Amino acid sequence: NYYRDVNRLLHAVQKNATKGDPRSVVKAIDNFCRQKEWAMNVGDEKGCILDSVVSEVNPVTVLELGTYCGYSTVRIASLLPPRAKIITLEFNPDYAKIARQVIAWAGLEDKIQVVEGPSGEWIPKMKEQFGVKTFDLVFLDHWKDRYLPDTKLLEDCGLLRKGTILLADNVICPGTPDYLEYVRNSPRYKSQYFKSHLEYTKAEDGLEKSVFLG
Ligand code: SAM
Ligand code: MG
Repeated sequence: NYYRDVNRLLHAVQKNATKGDPRSVVKAIDNFCRQKEWAMNVGDEKGCILDSVVSEVNPVTVLELGTYCGYSTVRIASLLPPRAKIITLEFNPDYAKIARQVIAWAGLEDKIQVVEGPSGEWIPKMKEQFGVKTFDLVFLDHWKDRYLPDTKLLEDCGLLRKGTILLADNVICPGTPDYLEYVRNSPRYKSQYFKSHLEYTKAEDGLEKSVFLG
């Protein structure tokens, strides 16, 4: 039962984090996942790399693929400049429901739009439904076999601009070989690997940061 698992994570947030303090929400989730139950958040270690990329890009429009409980969403949103927004896609309604509550606890509802449904259906509707022109930053962290088709879909839908940053999690573990081979060899990207560890473990994993060159 997915809902019961993530409900325990939500309760840990509501018990241990300060309402309106995003960093305390992040910390409560990391403590819960290290001490009680592993969960598939980007986690504290790779989270620091994510933070530094968000700070460097200073994006106004962000797309996240794969919300889960909203851990990375809160991490990203807490670093965004005042007018900026993040759209995050999640196709599991149980997870979307928990994420909305985690986001509310962090006090970040104004910056975050949780959109329910499969990425392959939403990406082509982004422009008309959300008035997005292009994204400054895309965080890919949904099912690993969707990274490549959704990247091509983002290209085809004109949602990437020269300089858009794609940041992909779990490129080693569980791994996204077809995506890595694409961004590392396509002349349309300049790509760089950040070595780290799978969330809450010592196994190697990392993030791939790829600049879309147009
Ligand atoms: N980004 C989150 C974090 O670090 O806190 C973790 C996301 S988790 C690894 C992946 C999530 O993507 C799951 O909740 C799953 O239900 C969702 N997902 C997988 N494929 C999807 C798709 N094609 N469209 C929308 N959501 C998807
Ligand atoms: Mg991940």
